[in-house]
Amino acid sequence: MSDTVGDQKVVMIEYTLKAPDGSVLDASGDGPPLAYLHGAENIVPGLEKALSGKTVGDALDVTVPPAEGYGEREGEPFKIPRDQFPEGIQPGMEFVIEDPSGGIRPHWILAMDEQAVLVDANHPLAGMELAFSVKVVGVRDASKEEIEHGHPHGPGGHHHH
Ligand code: ZN
Repeated sequence: MSDTVGDQKVVMIEYTLKAPDGSVLDASGDGPPLAYLHGAENIVPGLEKALSGKTVGDALDVTVPPAEGYGEREGEPFKIPRDQFPEGIQPGMEFVIEDPSGGIRPHWILAMDEQAVLVDANHPLAGMELAFSVKVVGVRDASKEEIEHGHPHGPGGHHHH
């Protein structure tokens, strides 16, 4: 079926993401639906798995454990001297650190003062059980270009400049 969620489909979803305590962490809200390319790791594995085989109009509640979400927490936050960062940084910002082998690893700023910046290599949602309420509002075939890029283009998707 052409409107069934599967690999190489661009899927449009409306979603609300809640923490175990019920607080809303993220939501598509009144904005456009989120568009993602199925099978390309655009969304967390547990949610992608739950959406597989669903069709337009399906609504589901999915509880995703950390291992299928943003991973378990590893390591502890650490400090980096403030002068190694540019002006304008703020807690919550993401940045990358290049490791000795040339790979890049995302890090997040937790807190800062004039001397130091406290950073963490864990995604802010790592170690957390995630409760998604999701509705599939659109499914279409991905273009060849979208499959090559690994993300959707157009409304709700990736924009190139
Ligand atoms: Zn692209």
